[in-house]
Amino acid sequence: MFPEVEMKIYKGKSVFGGIAIGKIQVYGKGEKRVKRTKVEDTEAEILRYRQAAREAMDQLKVLYEKALQEVGEANAAIFEIHRMMLEDGDYQESIENIIHIQEVNAEYAVAQTGDNFAQMFASMEDDYMRGRAADVRDISERLLAALQGEEAEKISVREPVIIVAEDLAPSETVQLDKDRVLSFVTVHGSLNSHTAILARTIGIPALVGTGLSLDDTIDGKTGIVDGTDGTFYVEPDEETLSRLQKARQEELLKKELFQTLKGKENITLDGQNILLYANIGNMKDLAAVLQNDAGGIGLFRSEFIYLERDDFPSEEEQFKIYRTVAETMGKKRVVIRTLDIGADKQCGYFKMEKEENPAMGCRAIRICLTRPEIFKTQLRALFRASAFGKIAIMYPMITSVWEVRKIKEIAEEVREELKGQGIACGKPEQGIMIETPAAAIISDQLAREVDFFSIGTNDLTQYLLAVDRQNRALDEFCDTHHPAILRMIETVVENAHRAGIRAGICGELGADPELTRDFLAMGVDELSVSPGRILPIRKIVLETDVSEYKKDWRKSWK
Ligand code: PEP
Ligand code: MG
Repeated sequence: MFPEVEMKIYKGKSVFGGIAIGKIQVYGKGEKRVKRTKVEDTEAEILRYRQAAREAMDQLKVLYEKALQEVGEANAAIFEIHRMMLEDGDYQESIENIIHIQEVNAEYAVAQTGDNFAQMFASMEDDYMRGRAADVRDISERLLAALQGEEAEKISVREPVIIVAEDLAPSETVQLDKDRVLSFVTVHGSLNSHTAILARTIGIPALVGTGLSLDDTIDGKTGIVDGTDGTFYVEPDEETLSRLQKARQEELLKKELFQTLKGKENITLDGQNILLYANIGNMKDLAAVLQNDAGGIGLFRSEFIYLERDDFPSEEEQFKIYRTVAETMGKKRVVIRTLDIGADKQCGYFKMEKEENPAMGCRAIRICLTRPEIFKTQLRALFRASAFGKIAIMYPMITSVWEVRKIKEIAEEVREELKGQGIACGKPEQGIMIETPAAAIISDQLAREVDFFSIGTNDLTQYLLAVDRQNRALDEFCDTHHPAILRMIETVVENAHRAGIRAGICGELGADPELTRDFLAMGVDELSVSPGRILPIRKIVLETDVSEYKKDWRKSWK
């Protein structure tokens, strides 16, 4: 009999969804042992260090170019930051001082300075700054390798494996052989680290902060990374293995469809374009956004940031999330909707009055306009993050022109305030959701006030048909193809176009394959759907001849 092996389960933070199953390879950095030796000629030692720094700068240039090609400008920027760190006056001065004053070798001075700076970053309050400790270690390792006449260490991977490491430096992540690395799992690391951002962009399941104890006993064993819920299984039992193999199989099938449609434009047979964007609720969904080739994010439901916490998220917390999303999406558009708390999305610490009919109560923009301090914190975070990518801000539950004017006034105040404080911010587009009948009916007036519309068919349907979207007993009365809804969408699109702005749909109806042709015929500019729906809709778009379809449409709803 074989001894029973016991499955081990670790929990970490998921950087990227998806499932990986394979052999584990533990990556222990060949910790460079640095000896402290006395030198006589400190000037020559300083010159030796400067030469190594020049080599390291050249290597970083090459890495930047490689990352630029593979993961885009926003993600490649980390190597520019490394170059800046390397050129940093304090860092250089510390190394040269140690050589000079202690009369020691350059290797020792670099290692010592690297440790000191990394410790300093690691002890900082701010998550983002703490994440920089790994970057300082990375550049110090690079300098040491250059001093010792070696190339900086690369992870050598001979077969498809799950890499398990203490931590990974951005340069190590970018050099991973993507065809052989199934996933990576780190003991430390934060979701904000550039390594995490790179992993999201490369698109492999990855977990950070698993806290597992790194020893060779797991090397070579079977592992499963479940990026959907942040679990790492070592030596999974049969039941777990077969369950996750099945889930992985489903993923692969989807990927196959993806491969044939990936990179294709969403263009009909007769040449009409439509944007296919993704809806997300948090950063974890980014993996699916990229895997499914979304043209951008059409709806980031920011209220989930509030719902996942016990207290108001700070400006800083929100800023980091929005910035990560914007950076990960690079040049692609990211529409972030301001908080839509209320109705079915209740959040205890908002301490809202109990309402008879919360769906028609104080929700979304109504909270923001009555409690501007909450709104302003979110707007500050959004404006700041908009300096890092192509963010657009979208306001939910609009019914009147005065609301939009008031919002714009507050937004302008916030921007001015940031400018006055010398804080960088972009100039994001500002748009509104059309999800109340009132907004749809006056969409001609509203279109003159904003940069874009996005039709929220979930709420629009409930308010138009007077059918509570939460009440399953009303299913038979909830006709999502009701002529009133379709006519209303068409009117909104027409009004948007007359005013020269775009109109998209971000409610669930946008993903209804039975209506894709109708939306194309109406001239809808963008459909924002859950990531998994993008490719099936792309398929329909590619197979549609809109002018042909228009010869015989609307019969059922006009
Ligand atoms: C909608 O109402 O259609 C919408 C997209 O918003 P939510 O579903 O978050 O209310
Ligand atoms: Mg809604």
